[in-house]
Formats: sequence, C-alpha cells, structure tokens
Amino acid sequence: MKVILLGAPGAGKGTIAKLLTDYDGSIQISTGDILRAAVKAGTAVGKEAKAYMDAGGLVPDSLIMKIMEARLQEADCKKGFILDGFPRTIPQAEELTTLLKKLSITFDLVVNLDIPRDVILDRLTTRRTCSNASCQEIYNIKSNPPKPDGTCKKCGSPTIQRDDETEEAILNRLETYNQKTAPLIDFYRKGGLLKDFASLSSQETVDGIKKSLKK
Ligand SMILES: [Zn+2]
Repeated sequence: MKVILLGAPGAGKGTIAKLLTDYDGSIQISTGDILRAAVKAGTAVGKEAKAYMDAGGLVPDSLIMKIMEARLQEADCKKGFILDGFPRTIPQAEELTTLLKKLSITFDLVVNLDIPRDVILDRLTTRRTCSNASCQEIYNIKSNPPKPDGTCKKCGSPTIQRDDETEEAILNRLETYNQKTAPLIDFYRKGGLLKDFASLSSQETVDGIKKSLKK
C-alpha cells in the first residue's frame, strides 16, 4: 500500500503505521527517521541537514524533499510505504505531489485520523515515559500505569511526564497542527483520495483502512 497518514499529535499515527507495516510489509517513513538515517549515513544531504540540526534550526523543505526523493527510491519501498507525519504543510504537500509525479508513484489512500480534541488531550497528558535513556518505556497512568511508586516496571527508574506532553505544550502542538497541517485535509479531499477514520480503536481503524484499500 501507498498511504499518507494525517492526524493531530496523539491521534495514533505511529501505532496505526506499525500495524499497517505488519499487515503487508509496507514500510513506515517519518521525516524524523529519514533525517536521522541520512545524518547517520553521512550522505551529502545528511551532512547538510546535520548542520541545520546542530545549529538548532529547522531543516528546510527543499532539503527534506531531496532526502525523501532518495528514500522513496530505495528497494524496500517497492512493497509500499506509509508516510507518517509527512507532509506537514501545504507547501510540502505541493512539493510531494510534484516529486511523486516525477517518480511515477501514485498514492492509494490518504488517511485522516479524526480524533476529538478532548480524547487527544487526555491520551497525551496521561502519558508517562521512563527516564532511563536506554529504556524509555511508555506508560499511561490510566490504562497502563507504572509501579504504584511511579517507577518503571522494566528497569525501576522514575517515570516522567515529558516537557512536550504537559497540557500547555499539547495545546500549543494542537494549535500548530490546526494552523499548518489541518488544511491538508481539504487539499487531499479535493483530490478524492482522502478518507476519514474516527474510531478510537487503532485496530478498528486499521481494519477500515484495509477495506478501503481492497476496493
Ligand atoms: Zn524503564
């Protein structure tokens, strides 16, 4: 399958992408992962990206598109791929359309994970992460709590609420999403490829996506 996943932070993109890759061997592609991989591989574009990251700046779209272009042509993309969290803005979506035309790739489906804001807020503010850098196990104080004293069940280190998962930080992330990424829903809806999925169960959403792909 060739799928774009759209959804606010906390909508479950990562979990759903993982379930889809298990289904048919498509690979999950996120901007963060391909940037880190390019930096690690020390390619020319990787070195360029590293310079921006080291300076604490954002990697420009032009560079992200170059890295994406190379990534989409790697052998493991032949079975299909799931773009997780990319594109993020209308300009990126327009550039992606141009790139896909150039590579003669067509998408099967754009998935819009339409999850209510209060659900997202609840999901993310209840998340806790193990503070041990080599563990980083993720908990949820309601559905999957750490030990009663707040320590990690795996390694015993304290669990923490990440800085970007406080209520204030999440409201900011959702605001950025609504301004920059939500307009992509209309962009792709006009192209006729978008479908909304509103289930709170990742498995139900994945089953729905599989059905849509078979049509
Ligand atoms: Zn741990």
